[in-house]
Amino acid sequence: MYSIGVDLGGTKIRTAIVSDSGSVLHSAELPTGATDGPDAVIERVLDSIRCAMAVLADRTDSTYQRKLIGIGVGSPGPLDPRTGVVLSPPNLPGWNRIPLRQHVESVFQLPTYLDNDANVAALAEWRFGAGQGADNMVYATVSTGIGAGLILDGKLFHGQSGSAGEIGHMIVDAKGPLCTCGNHGCLEAWSSGTAISNIATERYGRPLNAKEVEQLAKQGDAQAQDILEQAFSYLGLGLINVVNLFNPSVIVIGGGVAQVGAPLFERVRDIVLKQAIQGKSVQILPALLGKNAGVIGAAALPFISLGGGDGHDTRKSTHSLSYDPV
Ligand SMILES: [Zn+2]
Repeated sequence: MYSIGVDLGGTKIRTAIVSDSGSVLHSAELPTGATDGPDAVIERVLDSIRCAMAVLADRTDSTYQRKLIGIGVGSPGPLDPRTGVVLSPPNLPGWNRIPLRQHVESVFQLPTYLDNDANVAALAEWRFGAGQGADNMVYATVSTGIGAGLILDGKLFHGQSGSAGEIGHMIVDAKGPLCTCGNHGCLEAWSSGTAISNIATERYGRPLNAKEVEQLAKQGDAQAQDILEQAFSYLGLGLINVVNLFNPSVIVIGGGVAQVGAPLFERVRDIVLKQAIQGKSVQILPALLGKNAGVIGAAALPFISLGGGDGHDTRKSTHSLSYDPV
């Protein structure tokens, strides 16, 4: 069986054909062109799915359509996974209550599922990556922003309106820097790539991105090391709260900032081990699936819906499915 996964991001749309065992058969990427507005972006999403279907038709026999069981889309939030409506993501300008799932479903007549980018990456790491086998797992992405997907008691947890897991806006210091959400001292305002860049730019008096700060730190620059140490310490604080709240057995950390590796993981492991209740029983691991996490997790949505058990029962499919398992 196959499914098509779409990872709609603020800068790129990545689309892949994925098997039910999580293998990526084909993937392609195109620029989102977010400033062109929702209609243009939706058309690009549809085009990317058409291309994937054409590739699948070329590679498999004529029964491929019966083996293609659905489409999953991961999108920036906020969104409502039950209704398939994207609300108003900051990095998709002009989007306001766009029924993205309905658009895709009406064109391709295949069961279509929508969830936010952190949740689909969490699903991918849980089913096929670093979190395999865990019943309680938190996936945290530390990138330009910070978000999380929560697997609790063997299920993806959405909360009342789909916004559970917004750990980037967990307040870790009420007197901290102003966050994009309007509050002060959110985790994202301390530990995201954007925060690292902002703090470094202010201290050095010249523009520096998080990658450049990381390079300086590697070269022994004490100030850069101090900036990262502060960012990772706050991340550790945030994870103490996550561990105390959810008691996961595994925390998987992905995203661009986590690429720094040991300096981040050693710091947060030490903090969580010493300060969290049950800190000894949680493993903190790097994500394994890299840039494919989004498409693999999005493609997993139709499989999960079919298979049940680890439910993504955010919608009831109205389709009568007919397919031959392969
Ligand atoms: Zn915030």
